[in-house]
Amino acid sequence: MCPGDVSAPTVAAATGAQPARPLADLVEDAKRGGTNQITGETHDPKDEFYDEPLYSARTKIYPQYVTGTFRRVKWAVLVVTLAIYYFLPFARWDRGPNAPNQAVLIDFPARRFYFFFIEIWPQEVYYLTGLLILAAMTLFLMNAVAGRIWCGYLCPQTVWTDLFISVERWIEGDRREHLLRDQQPWTFERVARATLKHFTWLMIAWWTGGAWVLYFADAPTLVKDLATFQAPFLSYVFIGILTFTTYTLAGWMREQVCVYMCPWPRIQAALTDEYALNVCYRYDRGEPRASLKKAAVLHEHGQPAGDCIDCLQCVHVCPTGVDIRGGPNLGCIQCGLCIDACDAVMTKIGRTTRLIAYDTEVNIRNRQQGKSTSYQIVRTRTVLYAAIIAVVGAVMAYTLATRRAEAVNVIHDRNPQFVRLSDGGVRNGFSLHILNKTLETQKFVLKVAGLVNADVEAIGGENGPGGEPVIEVGPDQTREVRVLVTTHQRLEPGASIPLTFTVISKKAGTSASAVDHFLGP
Ligand code: SF4
Ligand code: SF4
Repeated sequence: MCPGDVSAPTVAAATGAQPARPLADLVEDAKRGGTNQITGETHDPKDEFYDEPLYSARTKIYPQYVTGTFRRVKWAVLVVTLAIYYFLPFARWDRGPNAPNQAVLIDFPARRFYFFFIEIWPQEVYYLTGLLILAAMTLFLMNAVAGRIWCGYLCPQTVWTDLFISVERWIEGDRREHLLRDQQPWTFERVARATLKHFTWLMIAWWTGGAWVLYFADAPTLVKDLATFQAPFLSYVFIGILTFTTYTLAGWMREQVCVYMCPWPRIQAALTDEYALNVCYRYDRGEPRASLKKAAVLHEHGQPAGDCIDCLQCVHVCPTGVDIRGGPNLGCIQCGLCIDACDAVMTKIGRTTRLIAYDTEVNIRNRQQGKSTSYQIVRTRTVLYAAIIAVVGAVMAYTLATRRAEAVNVIHDRNPQFVRLSDGGVRNGFSLHILNKTLETQKFVLKVAGLVNADVEAIGGENGPGGEPVIEVGPDQTREVRVLVTTHQRLEPGASIPLTFTVISKKAGTSASAVDHFLGP
């Protein structure tokens, strides 16, 4: 009988058929569910769920230090990624005398993005789209191959939180020591330790914000300007914002960002399948859980006992406070630290390691049924993601390799669209934007095709030997010129004739074209 059902004795008590029960018992019965024998109201125990507050206060997590393979991998990734982030702005890349020599630079005033040998102009923002597609597909592929390894090892939130937790452990002690200290009154020592911890966190957060702004200007110059308070005001504002966000997200919020704020666990839950490698508790081996003593007793009585001794080490080391033995969990960032913890326990008690391991649900079920296990990395989704990455990557590489050093855009005058001249000719005006992506000054010959015997005049340009306009554009610059095209050709009423504007580099002989229309009266 479900606890919500009204028992026969209760009904009897209410109707007087049985000796009356105390009022407190009736109240308890009413709470459990069914019809309230006092008020006659019905009560569904499910309502209790809705009566609970939706907000639950955070339980502070004190992750215990652990050593092992996955901890070492995490250290290595942490050092490499942070070193890249903090020091990359100081890397130099020689692009010639007319270009900045910072390897990675987002130059907003000049509207350029420099990445080593690649220089992206605003007109080439489609490369950014390609990069975003590549990033998304790589994330999907990582997820299909080995679950949330991005979250566990590479995500900035994970990396900085790991760093902040390490600082905390260094100053406040490991899990047990820190737990005890937090229960003590605020002594001078406790205040001093807390102050040192928050000061160190703030210094790391400040340097994180400082490194961010160095990607937007010449790093050595900006460092000097920041130190002498001569840097642009916005630099200080952004350093302040990033200091605050890093300190808050990595120092205070930690796992709450992964559990409540980040959309990726939800997306990943929709993307994953039972063939993806995930951190799994091998319940086929671990259950039923029993301490060493209890297991010995069970075995004596011919009862089974699993390998899990319920020591909770896997839970104590978890940075998000997850008990992975409960099954897949959105809070699990797949960092593998519980694997290290459990391996240490298994080694100590002489049992086979990897009771917790990167495994698949299919393998666990197969083992339970005595079938062989395997890992299928080649699946429809992994092939599909890899193919998209290969195609998008190849297209980007090809377009970058064959990218033209010049480009031209043309815009027809809006008003007036044409001018009728006193000699009967018709004139249209255009604005031409000529891009010189080389690091040298270039002279471009302008040719306009589409009209018979058209006169072409570039205002501010010079004329070449054949009378065609020649326009000079500085290194790594865009120049806007106004071009007037005049014809005495007989035009149909409302004529719209396609015109091709071609700029030809005098030095390299390379060219670029753009098309617009010549409009008649
Ligand atoms: S359950 Fe294990 S893998 Fe998941 S977050 Fe916790 S320690 Fe990392
Ligand atoms: S560390 Fe291993 S043995 Fe200990 S509770 Fe976790 S799974 Fe069980």
